[in-house]
Amino acid sequence: MLRRFRNLARLGPVEVGTANDRRGRTRHTAACTAPRCGFSAEYDTRSAAELAARTHRCPAH
Ligand SMILES: [Zn+2]
Repeated sequence: MLRRFRNLARLGPVEVGTANDRRGRTRHTAACTAPRCGFSAEYDTRSAAELAARTHRCPAH
């Protein structure tokens, strides 16, 4: 992950982090750390990102 995240958390293989985009909006990103997975998505709320992380069914695991 190239941007500076705060409040990084790991839920299974998925990391959830909060960052501001170029327009200053708060974005919540869930990104899978499994090398062959590549799952990464942004959400408007932290709870949505954490829910996505918890429910991610990793094809690389
Ligand atoms: Zn995955």
